[in-house]
Amino acid sequence: MHTKIKELLQFGTVDAKVEIKGWIRTKRINKQVVFLTINDGSCQQNLQVVMTPSELPKTLLNQLITGASVAVSGSLVASKGTKQSVEVHGHHLTLLGNAPDYPLQPKAHSLECLRTWVHLRFRTNTFGAVFRIRHAISYAIHHFFHERGFFYLHTPIITAADAEGSGALFRVTSLDAPPTHPDGNVDPREDFFNQPTHLTVSGQLAAEAAAMGLGAVYTFGPTFRAENSNTSRHLAEFWMVEPEVAFNNLDDTIVLAEALLKFLLDYVLKNCPAELDFLNQRLLNDRNEQDSTEPMPLLERLPFVLAHPFARITYTEALAILMDAEPNKKGKFVYPITGWGMDLQSEHERYLVEHHFKRPVVVTDYPKEIKAFYMRQNNDGQTVAAMDVLFPGIGEIIGGSQREERMDYLKAVVQRTYIQNLNWYLDTRRFGTIPHSGFGLGLDRFVLFVTGMENIRDVIPFPRTPGHVPC
Ligand code: ATP
Ligand code: MN
Repeated sequence: MHTKIKELLQFGTVDAKVEIKGWIRTKRINKQVVFLTINDGSCQQNLQVVMTPSELPKTLLNQLITGASVAVSGSLVASKGTKQSVEVHGHHLTLLGNAPDYPLQPKAHSLECLRTWVHLRFRTNTFGAVFRIRHAISYAIHHFFHERGFFYLHTPIITAADAEGSGALFRVTSLDAPPTHPDGNVDPREDFFNQPTHLTVSGQLAAEAAAMGLGAVYTFGPTFRAENSNTSRHLAEFWMVEPEVAFNNLDDTIVLAEALLKFLLDYVLKNCPAELDFLNQRLLNDRNEQDSTEPMPLLERLPFVLAHPFARITYTEALAILMDAEPNKKGKFVYPITGWGMDLQSEHERYLVEHHFKRPVVVTDYPKEIKAFYMRQNNDGQTVAAMDVLFPGIGEIIGGSQREERMDYLKAVVQRTYIQNLNWYLDTRRFGTIPHSGFGLGLDRFVLFVTGMENIRDVIPFPRTPGHVPC
């Protein structure tokens, strides 16, 4: 039985007989010794294996190159080197898989370059750190909700309802070429589901129905948007966490959102110190000390966000701040602030967070025209009980709201916006309607923040973006 490197480093006792399996990261060799650094993915750290070259056949020695996989048995000893406390003195080595022409050499490859090898980049320090942290966050999400009595709900991926009314949908069909009417329109009645279907843009509507019986639920799954936004913050397939809570108002849902984000930050700080150290160092190496606009180092940024209450303003207040902002007056915004009613762009969101408040900001009460149909109308008749949580370096990380529970209001919007197939949804208001609220947290954007990575393609294992499905 082999032991994971993580366990050896934590619990291994010196002189114990051990077997490890993993991939060679580096090899150094001289007349007396071969040094191999082995990584098995269980943790950030490599294990150093020391062997005598004369014990290894020459052909085997030549095959011990970066990327090859090996099994080594030997004994754990205190290391003479300064980089590690223990190492393995190998007595027996088996080559499991050769790796001639392995493209990833033990030097730093650019992230762009690694995106052309997404299937291999798991074997680098950077992506090992990112995906172990992504796992830790996912685990902590379930933990957070379970502890608070939420039920994990699997909402459908194929749906007939359009939650955002946005039109950015991927059609789902089983037809090679959809039959068309004489007028040229597609006839969905001949398709698999006898009606138009698409990949879900949000599990929310289904989660609302479930919250009406289960009280508090959350969905956590893949979400699809066909918006053609080739930015560093948009994916065509991303992961969203969506809690929905019966009897919660807007304030309750803001409190829940802040508690969730801080719980997750705290969890990663406590459970992934080696990964964070590595990513922090990686960013410090790229740092330009001359540039005063450089953000705080990662290991200061995360505790800072954890320690300070999020700022809270209304959309109307946000717009006044932005109208008065230096970059607006100097024409530095790509989208100038034109007036009340305009949607906030990521540059505006980041200005509020990074320059004005210098901490995460929750913006509430947006104009109803720029928000989804299901958000609860405020008494002013102009705004809805919406909230967006804005994060440094990213902009919007969460979008949420109190839902419109009043049948007459909801019906009016549904009719005005021509949203179809929502009769079942209206039933939730017909029978025992109640105030309720929820939000959607983009997992990938949160991983972006926690890891300090800059492109969302680098925090999801296999990114899907316009024109691009690498594997
Ligand atoms: P944006 O305005 O940034 O495009 P949105 O307002 O369309 O986002 P929502 O519909 O409110 O997004 O979705 C909730 C959350 O899901 C967002 O706050 C964000 O974290 C995440 N999200 C939305 N679209 C994407 C996407 N294309 N790729 C990755 N994450 C996304
Ligand atoms: Mn939003």
